[in-house]
Amino acid sequence: MAPDLLQRLIARTAATIAAHAEELTALDQAIGDGDHGVNMKRGFDAIAAAAEEISALPLPGALQKAGMTLVMTVGGASGPLYGSLLMGMGKAAGDGEAEVADLLAEGVEAVKKRGKSEAGEKTMLDVLVPVAAALRAAEADLPAAARTAADEGLAATKDMLATKGRASFLGERSIGHLDPGARSSALLIHAVCDVIEGKT
Ligand code: ADP
Ligand code: MG
Repeated sequence: MAPDLLQRLIARTAATIAAHAEELTALDQAIGDGDHGVNMKRGFDAIAAAAEEISALPLPGALQKAGMTLVMTVGGASGPLYGSLLMGMGKAAGDGEAEVADLLAEGVEAVKKRGKSEAGEKTMLDVLVPVAAALRAAEADLPAAARTAADEGLAATKDMLATKGRASFLGERSIGHLDPGARSSALLIHAVCDVIEGKT
């Protein structure tokens, strides 16, 4: 991938997370421990700080390094999970034939394995799994398909009962709130689409 495209992806995702850190924290205050915004901002700030080094690497290595950066800096459950997502995508990117749908599919499998989780448990997977499926199915306008799937997946977490992560400790009281990790995943999907569509 062209280094400048990677740099733009890093800058946009980090800026989006920073702009929504308080919102992510508020969502996590409702059904978790209130650190998701701080966690994500720390991780994406660290990726942004290493942007030059990361974007000089071939795509598999760049995704691997960005994922490792999240694992090392985030500190909540979301660090290893988003780290697994990026590293899984990096693994798939090593196969020169892989398309974006293949990359995300591999990344999602890595999250499931790491989190021992599936879609339907009120987590980031409720956004990532439908987005991966939408990319696989879309014949044209992949960003539009990804955006819609992300928004619908996020909205669906509101009525779900959490069965994984801290929110699961609340049992029935987890119902009625959006999942913070699903929100951060939707934000990241929109940020990537912004770059692909040339939005500044
Ligand atoms: P912590 O829960 O350790 O405080 P964060 O607040 O940063 O970590 O992240 C919480 C988010 O992580 C949740 O909203 C959920 O989306 C996601 N999450 C937690 N556990 C899992 C899991 N087992 N599988 C997938 N996602 C998970
Ligand atoms: Mg938390």
